[in-house]
Amino acid sequence: MNGKDGFREECGVFGIFSHADAARLTYLGLYALQHRGQEAAGMVTAAPNGLRIKKSRGYVAEVFSEEAMRKLEGAPAAIGHVRYSTAGESSGVNAQPLLIDCKFGEIAVCHNGNLVNANILRRELVSHGSIFRTDSDTEVILHLFARSDQKEVEDALVDAMRPLEGAFTLLFITRDALYGVRDPRGFRPLVLGKLGDSYVLCSETCALDLIDAVYVRDVEPGEIVIIDKRGLRSLHPFAPEPHRQCVFEHVYFSRPDSIVFGRSVHLSRIEMGKRLARETAVDADVVVPVPDSGAFAAVGYSMESGLPLEFGLIRNHYVGRTFIEPLQSIRNFGVKVKLNPVRSVLQGRRVVLIDDSIVRGTTSQKIVRMVRAAGAREVHLRVSSPPTTGPCYYGIDTPKREDLIAASHSIEEIRQFLEADSLGYLSHPSLMASVENSADQFCSACFNGKYPVPLPDQSLGQGRLFEKTEDR
Ligand code: AMP
Repeated sequence: MNGKDGFREECGVFGIFSHADAARLTYLGLYALQHRGQEAAGMVTAAPNGLRIKKSRGYVAEVFSEEAMRKLEGAPAAIGHVRYSTAGESSGVNAQPLLIDCKFGEIAVCHNGNLVNANILRRELVSHGSIFRTDSDTEVILHLFARSDQKEVEDALVDAMRPLEGAFTLLFITRDALYGVRDPRGFRPLVLGKLGDSYVLCSETCALDLIDAVYVRDVEPGEIVIIDKRGLRSLHPFAPEPHRQCVFEHVYFSRPDSIVFGRSVHLSRIEMGKRLARETAVDADVVVPVPDSGAFAAVGYSMESGLPLEFGLIRNHYVGRTFIEPLQSIRNFGVKVKLNPVRSVLQGRRVVLIDDSIVRGTTSQKIVRMVRAAGAREVHLRVSSPPTTGPCYYGIDTPKREDLIAASHSIEEIRQFLEADSLGYLSHPSLMASVENSADQFCSACFNGKYPVPLPDQSLGQGRLFEKTEDR
């Protein structure tokens, strides 16, 4: 693999149709989805007289000031987006939604996922005269839509979806309808909820909980839902594909209080921890989670092993996820800013430290050192997923293959690097059993190297330029 592992996005989406407080509810929904992207946020509200947009870098609470909200309010429908773009690209931002005016009228889109053939499609479009304003793969979708020969918006949307390859959970909004799309493999989640008579579409059920909406069902892989004043309709325009829902949503990315792909994330993580305890048992005194990512697996590990669970590391919640800081120097600093050991828990004890995954190994090494420096007699690191051996091309940010420690090192070599007394990972069959589904329903390419969608334009130097931050 060369340096073309770029073009990664982690995002959350939220949309609501037909509610007097659409803008405020979208703000709250995005607030609940903040963990899916902390770099930028945006919202488009839709009324019969037009679409309004606000987006910029920053957390949800920073982007939407009272003044911004006043401009958005009053429209009965909205979509919103939180976004994290990859390391090294923090000088620019591809904030979403993207809003255009075309022959079908105004339309805005937000996207969670990653198109693997975006560059090929873009070159084709450019060769036919398209002018791109951003370098985001999502803009390709709008061009395909705007060029469609169809008469109706929904037929043009179907036209625009057909050439797309990869991961795309999309929300579109026009002056009079909300559309939700899940790609035929269903990489990224999208759920349907109801709040009174209003429909809600969002990435995770934790956003429904916050606004007191009820979870109705998942939008199915390959389904397009259309919500307008007539109610809700579904289209299934894609050729069926085997489902490939992202297992990493259950390992790390989604919130544990969400139901993702019809399964409680909390229950999956407890089960991962229990199975990890069975597979990697060790003589020890205490189980300590790496907060917050290891918390639920640690509970499962403790239940199964009978070892007490104690909080030996305290997280400062006002720091973003260390992983998200773009520079190595800042990331190193971030570990100390974020975590502090509790000496009275660790002193003189044999500690089983639980985390959900090891990526580069740099954070984990610092944590192991920190726990030992706080007096732990032994540090046994246990990881509630298999070794991460491959980057994700379908919407989870991972570093390049050469930066994934498990891509090129044995478990013993990783253990030595981390300076742990022992190291154990969850097996792949146990991971699959933990998400309680047949393994072939899931994508676990980052763990088993089986990429369900090939990468046709890798050789084209996939990468992202920048859209200028728009603050209208
Ligand atoms: P590392 O030191 O690079 O191995 O970092 C491991 C930590 O990164 C673990 O605590 C994981 O929970 C966390 N992590 C794993 N994948 C991601 C991701 N895609 N984004 C942010 N953090 C992650």
